Amino acid sequence: MTALDPALVDKILAGERISAAEALTLYRDTPLPDLGALADARKDLAKANAYDGHGREVVTYIIDRNINYTNVCNVYCKFCAFYRTEKDFDHYVLSHEEIDQKLDELTAIGGVQILMQGGHHPKLGIDYYLNLLAHIRAKYPHINIHGFSPPEFNHFAEVFGLPLREVITKFKEAGLGSIPGGGGEILVDRVRQRIAPLKCDSDHWLEVMAIAHELGLKSSATMMFGHVETVEDRIEHLQRLRDQQDATGGFTAFICWTFQPENTKLRATPVGTAEYLRMQALGRIFLDNFENVQSSWVTQGPKIGQIALRYGANDFGSVMMEENVVSKAGTTFRINQDEIERLIRELGYEPHRRDNWYRLLD
Ligand code: SF4
Repeated sequence: MTALDPALVDKILAGERISAAEALTLYRDTPLPDLGALADARKDLAKANAYDGHGREVVTYIIDRNINYTNVCNVYCKFCAFYRTEKDFDHYVLSHEEIDQKLDELTAIGGVQILMQGGHHPKLGIDYYLNLLAHIRAKYPHINIHGFSPPEFNHFAEVFGLPLREVITKFKEAGLGSIPGGGGEILVDRVRQRIAPLKCDSDHWLEVMAIAHELGLKSSATMMFGHVETVEDRIEHLQRLRDQQDATGGFTAFICWTFQPENTKLRATPVGTAEYLRMQALGRIFLDNFENVQSSWVTQGPKIGQIALRYGANDFGSVMMEENVVSKAGTTFRINQDEIERLIRELGYEPHRRDNWYRLLD
């Protein structure tokens, strides 16, 4: 590590935009605690509703549930331990009854959202999805359907033989409330080709987000790193997210996590906690047009998720009643609402439930 450039520090503390070259310098040259302090300062500048009615600094979280409506997928990403083919004995497509049961359980604990994603099923037609959305919307009007990642939408357009915009419009009309940033991984095509060659490329991922934002659907932005990419690739990923946000402004939050290797075909040495914190902090500083950054306790564990609140995050993510994808790759952290609130309070913040749009709930 070399000494930090005071002019760059001043720029960050003034809330000014930093370049990709400056981001690289920052990543390489800044001692981790200093980078955390800078990210923390930027969080204070970025977050509009950071305080509750009593002047206490708030850290938010959401009660929601993952619903993976099918595990059948023909994309075979090398980092994925979740997918099955139709020939596997344990492949499934959830029925409405099974989904209802999950939604009843979620409602019982005060949940407000489902994160609904699946594999890329080669045979399900548009009616399956529109019926499912309409069914959930009618029976569970209090639950936001945060569903279908950009690679899924590209897959739908292909399977249904319809333009992307038309698919997204129909899904919105049927009840879709917002779109998760899944499948972003690293938005550099050379990297995508190595880890998920059959998945949509960076431009197509961003195109879904651009259309969704134009149609009034908000979305999150993600990054899965620590596999075959370089630090420069990670910064290019951030640059593409920032450019998209400048253009359409529909990203609610940035969430990053590290590759979880167990049971996957991707041979890569996982990165450690320090690199996770470093990357999240850099994301907070670089993404000056994002209001929210979520810590990722699901992959990093509750303690690291807590520490990440000192590295630019203002949100603890989700209570998450159910998680199927990361757990298949060997990561099985699970905590309840009380534990989340305790972890937030331990750092001197006030825990507060939120909805998908980061509005504070009573
Ligand atoms: S990550 Fe998603 S798209 Fe890739 S194989 Fe797994 S389920 Fe399919």
